[in-house]
Amino acid sequence: MSESFISFLEKHLDNRNVVAYVNTPNDVGEYTSPSVSGRVDVSSIEQVIRIVQLADQYDGETALYPYSTGFNWGLGSTKPPSDNTVQLKLNGLNKIREINIAEGYAVIEPGVTQGTLSRKLLNTNRFINVTASSAETSFLGNALDRGVGLRHQRTEDLLGLEIVLANGTLHRVGWWPEQGKQSALYSHGIGPSLVQFFTQSNLGIITGGVVRLLNRPEKSRVAYISFSPENLEYAINTFQHWSAQGLIHGVLKIYDETSTLTYGANKGEFLVHLPISGAASVVSALSIALETEFV
Ligand SMILES: Cc1cc2nc3c(=O)[nH]c(=O)nc-3n(C[C@H](O)[C@H](O)[C@H](O)COP(=O)(O)OP(=O)(O)OC[C@H]3O[C@@H](n4cnc5c(N)ncnc54)[C@H](O)[C@@H]3O)c2cc1C
Repeated sequence: MSESFISFLEKHLDNRNVVAYVNTPNDVGEYTSPSVSGRVDVSSIEQVIRIVQLADQYDGETALYPYSTGFNWGLGSTKPPSDNTVQLKLNGLNKIREINIAEGYAVIEPGVTQGTLSRKLLNTNRFINVTASSAETSFLGNALDRGVGLRHQRTEDLLGLEIVLANGTLHRVGWWPEQGKQSALYSHGIGPSLVQFFTQSNLGIITGGVVRLLNRPEKSRVAYISFSPENLEYAINTFQHWSAQGLIHGVLKIYDETSTLTYGANKGEFLVHLPISGAASVVSALSIALETEFV
């Protein structure tokens, strides 16, 4: 075997899509990188299938590392876990195939960002479970790596997935809309449930998915509380109690003395964001309850 897989791909694909790396580009997280020989900027599902088939035909060792937008900052960015890898950048698959406000789902491709999807839902009674990362990050990419939204774990938003398996076949698992048939949005279906099989796994390349659109609350507020490091244990116990008793909703974000420099607390202090949302009357009542509890 003399030819590298990236040269093999250049020969068999439209080579405007293939980028051979001479040096592996630096990663913002400064992770040591295994060797990456190049990247394919994927532009269609057929191309994903073709690349997987070519990897199978290639007479040597290689690995494919798919990512959606590749902004997994602090968690490896676009770095693969093994050597001799070719990255598949899927942000060119960026169609919103369907948005169904009434039923509460969207069918999207890996390149659809949380910013794009959020903007599409402005002035509707639906919204999405955004993360605290950039608007340019992929909704599916984050969910596939079990990211954390501000409402709950992103994996809970996945209803169905479309996957290219290692043998180059395309499949759908979980819940998908069917023309002319209404069914409850239930990702588990009947029998063994396969959606979560494909999160944090290397069992397939995801080319699309159905994601939940949430009911937009009538009102949302975020209470900011800062506290000194010596009160950390007391503060955590208190927030846990408030969360368990339903005084706050969503995911608690506690920032340490370094990250608060970005998030707006005073130097040397911790900061917590406490979300409350729901009917306006509930938010008012909870705001008063929190002020009473906070001593
Ligand atoms: C200031 C800051 C705040 C942040 N806040 C959050 C936060 O609140 N919550 C959070 O979860 N993260 C957060 N992050 C981390 C990170 O930026 C996000 O998780 C981001 O969404 C991940 O990048 P991405 O969406 O581009 O995913 P990608 O990098 O595209 O995907 C992540 C990984 O999932 C797998 N994958 C992706 N797409 C596919 C596919 N189509 N097929 C198969 N496998 C695939 C790959 O292993 C890939 O490396 C934060 C980062 C910073 C710097």
